[in-house]
Amino acid sequence: MALNWSPKNLPKHIFINNQYVESQSHNKISVHNPKDGSLIANDVAVAGAEDVDAAVAAAEKAFPAWRKVLPTERRNIMNKFADLVEQHGVALAELTRVSLGAPYEAFGAFEVGLCAEAFRYNAAWIDKFGGESWPQDDGFLKIVRNEPLGVTAGIVPWNGPVGTIGLKAAPALATGNCFILKPSEKTPFSSLALGTLIKEAGFPPGVFQILSGDGSTGALLASHMRIRKVSFTGSIPTGKKIQEMAAKSNLKRVTLELGGKSPAVVFDDCNLENAVTWTANAITANTGQVCFAASRVYVQEGIYDKFIEKYKEAMKTKAKEVGDPNEKGVNIGPLVDEAQFNRVRGFIERGQQGQGKLLVGGQRIGDKGFYLEPTVFTDVDINSEIHCQEIFGPVAVVKSFKTEEEIMKLSNDTNFGLMAGVFTQDINKALRVASDFDSGMVGVNCVSLMFMQTPFGGSKESGVGRECGIHALKAFTEPKTIMINLTY
Ligand code: NAD
Repeated sequence: MALNWSPKNLPKHIFINNQYVESQSHNKISVHNPKDGSLIANDVAVAGAEDVDAAVAAAEKAFPAWRKVLPTERRNIMNKFADLVEQHGVALAELTRVSLGAPYEAFGAFEVGLCAEAFRYNAAWIDKFGGESWPQDDGFLKIVRNEPLGVTAGIVPWNGPVGTIGLKAAPALATGNCFILKPSEKTPFSSLALGTLIKEAGFPPGVFQILSGDGSTGALLASHMRIRKVSFTGSIPTGKKIQEMAAKSNLKRVTLELGGKSPAVVFDDCNLENAVTWTANAITANTGQVCFAASRVYVQEGIYDKFIEKYKEAMKTKAKEVGDPNEKGVNIGPLVDEAQFNRVRGFIERGQQGQGKLLVGGQRIGDKGFYLEPTVFTDVDINSEIHCQEIFGPVAVVKSFKTEEEIMKLSNDTNFGLMAGVFTQDINKALRVASDFDSGMVGVNCVSLMFMQTPFGGSKESGVGRECGIHALKAFTEPKTIMINLTY
C-alpha cells in the first residue's frame, strides 16, 4: 500500500489510540523548508495538557494486554513495522527532507534504515532478554524478572528525526512498554506519518502514539505523574530541565543523549589518507548537525602541515557537494533553519575576531536557503568558544600538538564526553589512548560512527544512560527480584 502522506499532503494531526485526531489545544507550529526558507505549513498541532492526558490514558488502558502479548506476536508486529518503514523509506525521507534539508543518498536513506534496523534488532531480543536466577544453596531461589515500566515517552531532536525514534521506541515496545513519541517542532512530518504504519503493522490502539508539539509538549511529558520513563535526545540545557522535571514529578526514569565537542587525535604514525577522510566526513555529514561529530581535530606536529593541506583540499571538495538536497550529486544540504544558520554564522564571525585563523570556508553559499561552506579554523585559542562549545554545523577547529600526554589532557578538558577518535598505526598507543579518553565512545582509526549492538551515549554532560544493545532494553525495564523460600 502506498503511504498517502507527501509534501502535498502533510500529516499535521496528533496520533492517539491508532487515530489521527485534532488536538484539544489550539496552538500550532509553523515549519519552513531550509532549502529556500519557504513556509510549508503553519498549522501543525501542538499537543497540550488534555492531549497528553488522553494519550497517557490510552496507553495505560493498552498496557496490561500489551505486556502480555506473546513474544512471537510482538516480534512479528515489530518486524512488520520495520518492513513498512523500509518499504516507505523514500517517502519518509522526503517528509524529513522538506524541513531538515538532508539529501536522500547521503543521509535520508541511512536514517530510515537505522529506524527499521532498530525495530528488527530489538524484536530479535524479545524472547532472549531472559532475566536472571540465583542458586538456592542458602535455601532461597532468587528469580530476577525484567519488567516493563508502563507508559514511557521519547522526546527527539530534529537532526535525525526517524533514526532517533527507532533507538527509543523499539526497545521500549520490545520490552512490553507503551510509548508516546514527541517529535521536534522543526521536523514533525516523517514522525507523524508513522501513525499510518503503526496501525498497519498491527500495534494495538494506545501502544505507540505520537504527539507533535514544541518544548511545552515535551515539558508536559517530562513532568507527567503517570509517565514512568522519558528518553530524551537533544541539547544539554533541555536535558537538564528534563531531569529536573522528572525528579520534581514522580522520579520517572530518564535517559539523556546530549551534545558533544568530540576530539579526534591524529598521531604522526597514522595513515594520513584514512585520518583525513574520517575527520572530513565526520564534520560535514548531515551538514555537521551530528551530536558525535569530530569537531576538534588535534594533529601531531610531525604531520601537521601535510594534514592541513589535505584536510583543506577535502573541505574544498566537500564545498562542491553542498546544494539543493533534491538534486543528484548533492551530499550536503542546508542547515535546518534560519535560527541555526544564524547561530553557526555567529560562531564563524566571532571566531575570526581573534579566536583562531580561518583556514577554509566561512561563507554563505547562494543568497537563499541556509547553505554554508564547510569551515575550518586553525591556531585556535583553547579557551575560545569555537574550541570549547558545540557549534552543531560544518565547522571544525584544528590544532597541533607535541606529546600524547599534553593532548590527552586537552582532549579530556571539557564537560562533554560523547565520542573521541585516535588515528595511529601503533596498537599499544591506540589502546592506551582509547582507555584514557573520558568519553562514552572511542573510534580507533575511525570516528563519529555507531553500531546497533554497542552502547551509544556519553559521559559527563553528554548524557545519562545508554541507547542500543542490551543497554537500551535495560533502560526500559525495572528488575524485579522474586525470593522463593525452599526451606519448609
Ligand atoms: P533541543 O534540546 O532544543 O530539543 C530537543 C527536543 O526537546 C525537541 O523535541 C524539543 O521540542 C524538546 N524540548 C525543548 N524544550 C523542552 C522542555 N523544556 N521540556 C521538554 N522538551 C523540550 O535540541 P535540538 O536543537 O532539537 O537538537 C540539537 C541538540 O541535540 C544538539 O545539542 C545535539 O548534540 C543533540 N543531539 C544529541 C544526540 C545524542 O544521541 N547524544 C543525537 C542527536 C542530537
